[in-house]
Formats: sequence, C-alpha cells, structure tokens
Amino acid sequence: MVFGRLLRGEGKARFKCVYTECGSLCCKKNLVVLNEDDAAAFERLGINIAEATVNMGLNEFLSLLGSSQIKQLEGLEVVCLTKDSDGNCVFLNLEEGGCKIYDDRPYFCREFPFKFSKGGIKKKDPICPGLGQGEEMDVSTLKDVLGLSRLDVKPPLLVGDESKLKTSKALMGMVFRLMR
Ligand code: SF4
Ligand code: SF4
Repeated sequence: MVFGRLLRGEGKARFKCVYTECGSLCCKKNLVVLNEDDAAAFERLGINIAEATVNMGLNEFLSLLGSSQIKQLEGLEVVCLTKDSDGNCVFLNLEEGGCKIYDDRPYFCREFPFKFSKGGIKKKDPICPGLGQGEEMDVSTLKDVLGLSRLDVKPPLLVGDESKLKTSKALMGMVFRLMR
C-alpha cells in the first residue's frame, strides 16, 4: 500500500467507488488491519474471527510500510483479514464483486482510498481508479459517503505479549502514526 503524500490536508476531493470497473481492486491489493471496534462488530455479527483473520508480526507489518524494525515491538501482532491464494479478501464476493459485509466493513476499508487527519485529507492511494471521479465533496460529505462520520479512528488491535502492550503508550502512539 503506497500512499501519495499530500503536503497539507486537502479540504475537498472527487471520488466515486467504481468497483464493477476496477474489479474491487482494493479488496485484492490491500492488507486490512482491524481495530478493536471492527473486532467487536465481527463478534456482534457472529463472524468467526479465528477464521476471518490472521495475525501478523507487528514488525513484519511495519516493514511492509517501509519502517525499520523496533525491538520493543517483538512479540506483538496485528490482526488482518484473511486472504485467499490470489490475494482476495475473505469477504469479497467473488461472483458479483463488492463486499459481503459492506455495511459492517472495517474502518480501514471505509476510509480507503483516503487517510484523514484533523486538517482534512492527509493521503490518497493512487491505485484507486475512483479518485477524481464523481462530484467534488468536502471532507464532511466525503466521510458521510464513506460511512465514517459516526466512527472514531482507533489504533490497530494488537495481540501478543501482554506486558509489552502495557509498557509504552508513547511507543504505541508512534506505531499508530506510522500506520497512518
Ligand atoms: S475504493 Fe477504489 S479500488 Fe476500491 S473498489 Fe472502489 S474504485 Fe476500486
Ligand atoms: S472487508 Fe469488504 S471492503 Fe474490506 S477488503 Fe474485504 S471485501 Fe473489501
């Protein structure tokens, strides 16, 4: 996932999801990391989390984002959605395209292809062909359309070494920022 960085938050963007045209590209390319609200939603829906997710070492995940290894994070893992051997997300409807749990999809999926900050749109992922399509929207409208307006951005759900999870809030804050 390589995001184009913007120097400061943009206040408007044009976007329209064209999943029938792109073949749900993001549901094949992206590695979706859950937060605690996503995991709670899965539980409410009766989704078997053990089947729907796979854990990945936090350092391994950070290295995918281009970050160097952090020794204090060894033993911690992020929780990602399972993919098949072709990279398709476990919830991708392979016959018709689209998401089988669209109304309850994880925060990461809702926010894609954007990352928002308090200043507006912080990043856009150029792999998404829906960028630049449709009507121009301000950030508030965009968040409504993406189903984000009532959700808070949360750090990733981390599992593993309990003592490490409690050791350093500053370190976890740094991890959160790296992931955004
Ligand atoms: S968000 Fe972008 S990449 Fe994902 S399905 Fe929609 S148009 Fe395709
Ligand atoms: S949960 Fe749904 S929206 Fe998210 S990657 Fe999987 S299929 Fe796509």
